[in-house]
Amino acid sequence: MSRILITGGAGFIGSHLCDRLLKEGNEVICLDNFFTGRRKNIEHNLRNGYFEFVRHDVTTPYMAEVDEIYNLACPASPIHYQYNPIKTVKTSVMGAINMLGLAKRVKAKILQASTSEVYGDPSVHPQYEEYWGNVNPIGIRSCYDEGKRCAETLFMDYHRQNGVRIKIIRIFNTYGPRMNPGDGRVVSNFIVQALKGQDITIFGDGLQTRSFQYVDDLVEGMIRMMKTDESVIGPVNIGNPNEFTMLELATKVIELTNSTSKLIFQDLPQDDPKQRQPNISKADKLLNHWSPDIQLEEGLIKTIAYFKEELNL
Ligand code: NAD
Ligand code: UDP
Repeated sequence: MSRILITGGAGFIGSHLCDRLLKEGNEVICLDNFFTGRRKNIEHNLRNGYFEFVRHDVTTPYMAEVDEIYNLACPASPIHYQYNPIKTVKTSVMGAINMLGLAKRVKAKILQASTSEVYGDPSVHPQYEEYWGNVNPIGIRSCYDEGKRCAETLFMDYHRQNGVRIKIIRIFNTYGPRMNPGDGRVVSNFIVQALKGQDITIFGDGLQTRSFQYVDDLVEGMIRMMKTDESVIGPVNIGNPNEFTMLELATKVIELTNSTSKLIFQDLPQDDPKQRQPNISKADKLLNHWSPDIQLEEGLIKTIAYFKEELNL
């Protein structure tokens, strides 16, 4: 049994990670400030003696004797990370410094939930880990992209300078149950709109692509990454290489929900990446042949069922 700290543990991905690590017999400390996370996501664990919730903001230091840290605290949806961009940078950068300081002090292993956004609007396709990216440092997405890039830098420097045992994963678009209906990301928006019979909002011409990963596949990849030996530090892409346009996604969601919703076209947000697809050969090689098991249709069916219940539809 390990004692594991999960920052951002009440969020969409973090709450699934809490469940899985508890199920494997670990003690879990879930730290969150509830900016985008919800008590509802972790409520079922509150009476579990091996689970502890700490309301705390990662921009200030936190101390606990732990063996492993998963650092997920950071709003991930553009509308939320752009709400207070200065705070987003502080969360990524000061959060990384505080958690790396803790890892150094208690000699814990620490995993950073980085992102495909470090590749920006990529000029190399699919994206492999050696690609340095094409990121606008002064745009509206920069608080998130550059914050996450700086966090990776800090992880590498704590490793080189202080020997901290680090792991960096770059997560590609992930969806599934427990996404907040008001989250603003494309999968939750389209499903909620389709279920409510509202217009489906396509930004731009809808031909931009993303590669969508179901949350259970990501959690499996994260845990495998944490278990790798010390020489594996990453970064390692974790995502599903099946790539879709937003028009294809909208059509699929309408079909699976039997919706009468119509598509409407709205302005494309500034610096919206045109394409995104992970090269996952490194994950295959380093994470015991990890690859995603759940493809889009199966994952959407599970997610639609969740939103139906969540919205009482
Ligand atoms: P989420 O918004 O549901 O979860 C983030 C959690 O962090 C929330 O519970 C929020 O309350 C918490 N948080 C935010 N700021 C905090 C702070 N200052 N102190 C403490 N807690 C704070 O988003 P998610 O999709 O679950 O993302 C989790 C992590 O994975 C994030 O770091 C995100 O950047 C990364 N990621 C997610 C995706 C994706 O597609 N979902 C893709 C790439 C990377
Ligand atoms: N998008 C869209 N309609 C929406 C929300 C998003 O067409 O209601 C588009 C968005 O412009 C982007 C893609 O869907 O091209 C993925 O957006 P999301 O915010 O989910 O993730 P990210 O852009 O960070 O990959």
